[in-house]
Amino acid sequence: MITNLLTHSRMASYKTCPRKHHFEYVAAIRRDIDGAPLRMGSALHEGLDALKGGLSLDEACQQVYLNYATLPAWANTDEAVEEWAVECEIVVRLLTAWQWRWADSRIQIVATEQAFDLPLVNPATGAASRTWRIAGKIDAIVRLADGRLAVMEHKTTSDDLAPDSDYWRRLRVDQQISHYFLAARALGYDVQTVLYDCLKKPGIRPKLIGKGEDKRRETAREYGDRLTLDIAERPDHYLARQEIPRLESDLDEFRSELWDIGKAIAEGRAYRNTNACVSPYRCAYLDICSSNIDVTNTVPSGFVRLTSSLHPELAGATHDSSTHNSTAQTPADATVTSVNGQAVVV
Ligand code: SF4
Repeated sequence: MITNLLTHSRMASYKTCPRKHHFEYVAAIRRDIDGAPLRMGSALHEGLDALKGGLSLDEACQQVYLNYATLPAWANTDEAVEEWAVECEIVVRLLTAWQWRWADSRIQIVATEQAFDLPLVNPATGAASRTWRIAGKIDAIVRLADGRLAVMEHKTTSDDLAPDSDYWRRLRVDQQISHYFLAARALGYDVQTVLYDCLKKPGIRPKLIGKGEDKRRETAREYGDRLTLDIAERPDHYLARQEIPRLESDLDEFRSELWDIGKAIAEGRAYRNTNACVSPYRCAYLDICSSNIDVTNTVPSGFVRLTSSLHPELAGATHDSSTHNSTAQTPADATVTSVNGQAVVV
């Protein structure tokens, strides 16, 4: 029986370090709490989904506040509580700015959170893999103002979003884009391009205000007001979109890479890539790895062992299009409603 899912996250883990992939997907050991960047990205994603799903901005923001209403276990100092409040404020302010920035973009939402679970096909023979299926979740399928269908992906990043920056150049060869493009087509959407929608995490932080004895740190709300002003002054710095085209030659190359990566992972190699231990960020498994801890029967402190699914990021999709083209909602099936004053196809 086929149970192995090849997702973008799994492939990225393997390419970063096969030993890391072993910890994450073979031993199924994961960090107990998400780091702030992941957490903030997820919270923003959830807010964007709420907006695309038809909630008003107020409702979407209320949802964010609700998600941040319960303090996590680590927020046990005044500083940590404040950090939590600031993070919530950043999410709300960016969400609000996103709605304002793109209100006139005339993009119709065709489907959101489109999960896929499809055969992995050998590009040389056309035969389906007996080991892997490819899976993932596309943020949205949209119809652009000129009528073309597109895959829409949201990303939060700290990188420079200037139009000529390397951030966009790298996307020309990004495998996730090809992955989702092919999946969208397999699900029955005749997508022509990818609309990459980015929100930049703010570089500014709460600062000290006032003078002398009145000197104090900005509250989360005061910081949020300053952030909103900054976004209004330089919206392109915080919110940017670009179309990322995909040529047939790009897709062919990706099909081969997909097959090769699946084959490499199936061989079960778990060698270490020590170039990835501390850069671009500290590997979550560095302490385990450097102490030679055997995780076969032990779950180190601060980690949990996944028991139900190796792919929690796939949970919560509104459509489980788990296999067949014929069950996918196609653009022709769609009906039009209005959300936040915009035409939205649902
Ligand atoms: S600490 Fe280094 S070698 Fe170990 S899993 Fe992480 S990246 Fe790989």
